[in-house]
Amino acid sequence: MNETEPGLPIGILAELTHRCTLQCAYCSNPLELLKADRELGTAEWISIFEQAADLGILQVHLSGGEPTLRRDLPDLVAALARRGVYSNLITAGVGVDGPTVERLAAAGLDHVQLSFQGARSETTELIGRLRGAHERKLAAARAVREAGLPLTVNAPIHRRNIDEVELFIELALDLGAERLEIANVQYYGWALLNRAALMPPREAVERQIEIVEAARAALRGVLAIDFVAPDYYARYPKACMGGWARDAFMITPDGTAMPCHAASTIPHLVFDNAARTPLEAIWRRSPAFEAYRGTAWMKDPCRSCDRREIDFGGCRCQAMALAGDPAATDPACSLSPLHGRVLQLAEGDAASEVETFRYRRIGAAAEPA
Ligand code: SF4
Ligand code: SF4
Repeated sequence: MNETEPGLPIGILAELTHRCTLQCAYCSNPLELLKADRELGTAEWISIFEQAADLGILQVHLSGGEPTLRRDLPDLVAALARRGVYSNLITAGVGVDGPTVERLAAAGLDHVQLSFQGARSETTELIGRLRGAHERKLAAARAVREAGLPLTVNAPIHRRNIDEVELFIELALDLGAERLEIANVQYYGWALLNRAALMPPREAVERQIEIVEAARAALRGVLAIDFVAPDYYARYPKACMGGWARDAFMITPDGTAMPCHAASTIPHLVFDNAARTPLEAIWRRSPAFEAYRGTAWMKDPCRSCDRREIDFGGCRCQAMALAGDPAATDPACSLSPLHGRVLQLAEGDAASEVETFRYRRIGAAAEPA
């Protein structure tokens, strides 16, 4: 148990569905995808969003899977708008046409984040495994701008598209995006399964950083560029979710409330369901939220490190995946005794000749490689 009362959350990532038109091999959804019949209904989500507003939550990210596959999405957006909660749609854009965007804008949607699997059409098709996906995304981006909504282009980066970073910047400018998020993929879930086919070599990462830094300086005031560095080559880890159960959390399509995307990979954690337990009780008292909140749970080197309230020891799920101990220092940290091993893993994967993906779909993770 933590000795201090938690502050209030400011954001929720609502994974409305695991259904998706694409099959990205780095998808952050769990390997065991939920079918449509496990999804919460409209009234359940609206109740959760009402409670979120009561709790003072400022923003809800509507994600998936592909959230626009939910026919009730405009109703959910409207429920947030009524309570003055900022709504951000995170979409792959396939199937998002002008009328869809107009309906969402009329319901009160505030912002759209649209992901591109590649800056080139062939890359998008290879990674997302859908012919014609790129052109449909371009059309969706134009519809977003025509509806007057602000647009962020998301570019998840890995070995197969790291040489397209300059093109991603051009694409974001062409589309009139306000923001571009260049995010190196995080290796858990599907990305961990496909790590050997996705890990970039260190030289490509260094070149990418140079390109991003130069573009940030040149495009100041024109395009904001966020950059998420690749963990395995980093010196220090990121504060995952801004710190475990510190200011944001996520809810899966069936209502499971978790501190982060991959928390279900930590075997001893038991999660509450937001359709059955009040949100405030989950936030304040869920044992899974309490488990790694704050700093009291830390072991050395985190416990005595002066960065412990900056990165909160990094990612618990990565510690589980790489160290077999969710309370260990994230092995992505250069102070972790396992960091050298992580670098070896990264370099081995980057040099591997694995080219085939295990694409994200129900049952695929259990099939032989
Ligand atoms: S990462 Fe790809 S497969 Fe996963 S939800 Fe997004 S578009 Fe769909
Ligand atoms: S030792 Fe822990 S707190 Fe310190 S930088 Fe590494 S992960 Fe962060």
